[in-house]
Amino acid sequence: MEKETVSKNFIEQIIDKDLEEGKVQAVCTRFPPEPNGYLHIGHAKSILLNYGLAKKYNGKFNLRFDDTNPTKEKTEFVQSIIDDVEWLGAHYDGEVRFASNYFEQMYEAAVKLIKKGKAYVCDLSADEIRAYRGTLTEPGKNSPYRDRSIEENLDLFERMKNGEFPDGSKVLRAKIDMASSNINMRDPVIYRVARMTHHNTGDRWCIYPMYDFAHPIEDAIEGVTHSICTLEFEDHRPLYDWVVRELEYPNPPQQIEFAKLYLTNVITGKRYIKRLVDEGIVDGWDDPRLVTIAALRRRGFTPESIKMFMDLVGVSKSNSSVDYAMLEYCIREDLKMKKNRMMAVLDPVKVIIDNYPEGQTEYFDVVNNQENESLGTRKVPFCRELYIEREDFMEEPPKKYFRLFPGNEVRLMNAYFVRCVDYKKDENGKITEIHCTYDPETRSGSGFTGRKVKGTIHWVAAPYAVPATVRLYENLVDESKGVYNEDGSLNLNPDSLTVLENCQLEPNFKDAAKGDSFQFVRHGYFCVDTKDTKEGSLVFNRIVSLKSSYKPGK
Ligand code: ATP
Ligand code: MG
Repeated sequence: MEKETVSKNFIEQIIDKDLEEGKVQAVCTRFPPEPNGYLHIGHAKSILLNYGLAKKYNGKFNLRFDDTNPTKEKTEFVQSIIDDVEWLGAHYDGEVRFASNYFEQMYEAAVKLIKKGKAYVCDLSADEIRAYRGTLTEPGKNSPYRDRSIEENLDLFERMKNGEFPDGSKVLRAKIDMASSNINMRDPVIYRVARMTHHNTGDRWCIYPMYDFAHPIEDAIEGVTHSICTLEFEDHRPLYDWVVRELEYPNPPQQIEFAKLYLTNVITGKRYIKRLVDEGIVDGWDDPRLVTIAALRRRGFTPESIKMFMDLVGVSKSNSSVDYAMLEYCIREDLKMKKNRMMAVLDPVKVIIDNYPEGQTEYFDVVNNQENESLGTRKVPFCRELYIEREDFMEEPPKKYFRLFPGNEVRLMNAYFVRCVDYKKDENGKITEIHCTYDPETRSGSGFTGRKVKGTIHWVAAPYAVPATVRLYENLVDESKGVYNEDGSLNLNPDSLTVLENCQLEPNFKDAAKGDSFQFVRHGYFCVDTKDTKEGSLVFNRIVSLKSSYKPGK
């Protein structure tokens, strides 16, 4: 039998034990987003974790919108969230679910608690409730309404539902323990009166359940076995357990917490991303500099790379930040073997091969990916006028500069050796054209071994070149300089976006479609932007450069 080499994370250990002891028959997990913004890389962790567990244990994975709070929710976000979950490849069981579809059951659950003497209607104001709650060091005080009779509570709660009381005038509270060392257990509010139109139920309800009451009920109704959430809910777990116990669910779900994913030099947190969007600092929720899932997709990240990243990060019980370079490592690894490596000149300068016949074109057969033969070859035209990168030529090169300079010979990638014989400048000293001669003996693939050159540069045949706009990205914030200024504003990197308008690409790019990605040799991986690319005008986003300082542990 093969030995298990991958150690199990702490959640898998809990599940193993539950299955072994027969506490759980079949695993069911869920992802419960609030539809109040776009999902980000942190949510991807939660999605892939929950989905991955369900898959591993042959169980079910539910997608359920936690839409019990009508103030912040917007239907526009529902579709984007579904799209993101599907794009990540997390197949959810059955239909998309909505917590708001369970409002009736939640109401009945509250009635059940009242009948058990475990909940009461309280008339204290929000401020009074706060004052009565006590502090971390002092116990709370009982509300004067705590001992209302069951009959009176049933009557008042029904009238709350029927709209007889103004917003905020009454709440339903769980009757637990005002002296509990856990403040969440000091008779928490479980229902409030609020006249708000809900995106799903409209004006049918004027009372809404609170999160800590609603969430365990949603899990229990769906038969969720392991309700996985992030660490900030650890102190709420006793209340979660109280709710499912008092409501006497036959197979109560259990809550398990793990640490949120944070990335260095990256803004996660819906609130902060929303601010960047609202202030117009970025071009919408899918601006490629963001780490929303929509932005990562637009930038050219793949579901596979995100999954690889989550596997490398693992699941932990303590908060920490993961280096953004690790995510970059994963996308490089994923694209390395899959993508053609093609020539693109981002900052072009003209090269003229003086001894190459005018009007002649020849084609080179070029391997698409040296590490993956199955991607085949393509034809690349070569002629007298080419573009090369401006930085691949220097009038007065420093030591160890092996690219083009007067008198020097370099290899044009996949083509010939050329030697620089002359160059022209404009009145500002800017190089306008470089003249070279080529040596026909050195044709690529001819087996020429006559002499060696130290530099190889890429190029594009000028008359055949495809123009494009290319966008380079850097982090929006730099943690080493502090993410926030003293006044609370974000300390933004002014160079987070560079737009190169006049790039020249080899003609094989002419059929590139939105969302396609490629390696541009020597520059990195680039993806055709899905939003700004128009018929006849290509816009590329740099996904990631080729170089990395990051190496995974093992
Ligand atoms: P944010 O704090 O970014 O606004 P949220 O927690 O309010 O996110 P929800 O829609 O409530 O967003 O979260 C849905 C699920 O995603 C929850 O189970 C939550 O714990 C999880 N989640 C949110 N952020 C992260 C993160 N950074 N890492 C892992 N899981 C996360
Ligand atoms: Mg939230």
